[in-house]
Amino acid sequence: MQIPARKYNYPMKKNDMFEIEITGLGKDGEGIGHHDGMTFFINGALPGDIVEASVTKLKKTYGYARVVQIIKASDDRVESVCPVSKRCGGCSLLELSYQAQLRMKEALVEDDLVRIGGFDREYIKEIQEPIIGMDDPLHYRNKAAIPVGLSQDGRIVTGYYARHSHRIVEPDQTLGCMIGNAEDPGITRAVKSWMTENRVKPYDEMTGKGLIRHILIRHGVHTGQTMVCLVISGKSIPAADNLIESLTETSPDIKSICININREKGNVILGERTECIWGEPVITDRVGDVVFDISAKSFFQVNPVQMQKLYQRALEYASLDGSENVYDLYSGIGTISLFLARQAGHVTGVEVVPDAVKDAVRNARLNGITNTNFYTGKTEDVLPKLIAQGRPADVIVLDPPRKGADPEVIDTILAAAPKRIVYVSCDPATLARDLSLLCADGSYRLEKYTPVDQFPETVHIETACRLSRHR
Ligand code: SAH
Repeated sequence: MQIPARKYNYPMKKNDMFEIEITGLGKDGEGIGHHDGMTFFINGALPGDIVEASVTKLKKTYGYARVVQIIKASDDRVESVCPVSKRCGGCSLLELSYQAQLRMKEALVEDDLVRIGGFDREYIKEIQEPIIGMDDPLHYRNKAAIPVGLSQDGRIVTGYYARHSHRIVEPDQTLGCMIGNAEDPGITRAVKSWMTENRVKPYDEMTGKGLIRHILIRHGVHTGQTMVCLVISGKSIPAADNLIESLTETSPDIKSICININREKGNVILGERTECIWGEPVITDRVGDVVFDISAKSFFQVNPVQMQKLYQRALEYASLDGSENVYDLYSGIGTISLFLARQAGHVTGVEVVPDAVKDAVRNARLNGITNTNFYTGKTEDVLPKLIAQGRPADVIVLDPPRKGADPEVIDTILAAAPKRIVYVSCDPATLARDLSLLCADGSYRLEKYTPVDQFPETVHIETACRLSRHR
């Protein structure tokens, strides 16, 4: 008698080759396809491709494979504009047309809301507003933290880390990074020449020797101001005057040159102390008509053009008439709070990082905004106290980190019973989980949402959502 094969006794083995059509995009930009009941994740394959693949790893219901050859290329494939995109770990979608990227991102959010959030697909399609993309999806980043190292033949190299490694991939010397600022290649060249002329060594992660760790460059895209900050392992740099001269000759936009001291081993880029060696310790940028001071360490969204569109949508979703008490949870340096404050009665920000709260308070003052308060602490600790003290919540805006909101925060929001909740999220999966909790008892309904493409050429996506209380 023949025993029927158990379903998960999959007949394929490692290195077996097979043909597969790619139908979806994974969270790391990899292609996803199905073959004989198994789901495969395949790096370098894109939705719409038919590829010959070779199995690299098998689990019970899913596996990983690599592309051996593309049998039929997806209609959405385009040639990468970046000569090093295959080696660099930065952008995974440069070979997918921008229109297709936007379609995929809409689908990613929709799928998570349905699969994780438990929302009805037809309903989700009805309430989704079209994704907001960029007119020009390149050169959008306002910040670059560029590692400095030595090549095998002893040259000073700068660039970006290859995926899952600390090997520096140099970008094209004139083009630079395709999502970075066009001024960055000139600035890094000036720093490298200064290092060579003054025998300044790059820091070596293995031995802890050498001085220069990273070149941090920040731009105020609406003001044109630039900050260059060298992250160093020592107390100071030699020949600072030469560096200043060379940088200020390279770009008239440079308004601030700093050093940041980081003596720690490990992956954290910036150390505690920053010292301004030329110009101002901060640069400024604007979001709408609100001005922000940005220091080397400030958190500021990396794509200010899209940030403004995202916050504008959040403001629309909040539907303020000027009288409301608004909470801005996970408020960072107060970007959303200050953007909302002019249209609100009062805005209360809650943020865990003390330096960010200091920035928020300073930014409020800088703009003459007097109807905001910022509290330092975890939202899960601070919000229940503020609500218990009787500070009303007409509208609650939250913009949590990737892991989403703590269950206690969700419970407190529900108990505070605001008219509207505006949820801004950088992770559709935790967003879907939290929205399902917020809608669970039927007192709130998800009314609208908009995906906003803050990170073209990568799989990341932001979403703004509006929930209203209807009983
Ligand atoms: N809305 C802000 C920042 C959003 S990023 C802006 O757009 O600028 C998320 C923020 O949440 C970060 O500033 C992070 O420091 C903060 N954060 C993380 N966990 C937190 C918690 N448990 N309570 C309060 N803030 C938290």
